[in-house]
Amino acid sequence: MISGVIHVLELDMRRHGLFEPGDCVTYDGFHQYPELLGGDVYVIDEVLGDMVRLHEFPEGKYDSYLFSEYYSGDSFQHYITTASEEETGETHWLIPEIGEGYTLRLRRLNCLRSEESLKDIDISEIQWNQNEKYGVTGETLHCPCCNGERVLYAELQYPGILLDGTTTSTGCRYLAIDGSHRIQKLLYYGSKTARCYVFHIDEVRNYFEKLIKEH
Ligand SMILES: [Zn+2]
Repeated sequence: MISGVIHVLELDMRRHGLFEPGDCVTYDGFHQYPELLGGDVYVIDEVLGDMVRLHEFPEGKYDSYLFSEYYSGDSFQHYITTASEEETGETHWLIPEIGEGYTLRLRRLNCLRSEESLKDIDISEIQWNQNEKYGVTGETLHCPCCNGERVLYAELQYPGILLDGTTTSTGCRYLAIDGSHRIQKLLYYGSKTARCYVFHIDEVRNYFEKLIKEH
């Protein structure tokens, strides 16, 4: 279990902003470069001091510190979307501190990972999706959303993501925004704690983007 975690941290600390041609990177900035989309993956073509050229945009030069290395196997991949109970029939995804109709690409949080943010949290303090939504407990590997598939094959060594400082519908201190299936599996196999990255809502607030509704 430990080796998996150390691996993740080594990747993060090894090279941030220091790239070589051919590296895959995610864009961590906002509107500094309007042609780039936050959280999207690009390829470094050339390194020019603190600047880089991207294969996809050969004309531009970009500040390398607005990028971080990307590995498909070592990266938060999902999205979360905040919505109201009225809209979804669920309570879980409305984060009052963010409001309705926002989405967060979890990959954008890759660059926030650090040794300090990785913690062992008591699962009783975590609001996790299937428990809040369906009343599922750790007595079963079954999950109504995926027929248990995602619980059974959840990778326990990979840390989930918790938000601190939000108002949860169950009153739990932490909100799991990634890793709910892992939490169910951990409980099933007798764990009382989950190793997760914990971010305060104020750290991640700016990474939520307004959801453009499709009609
Ligand atoms: Zn499920």
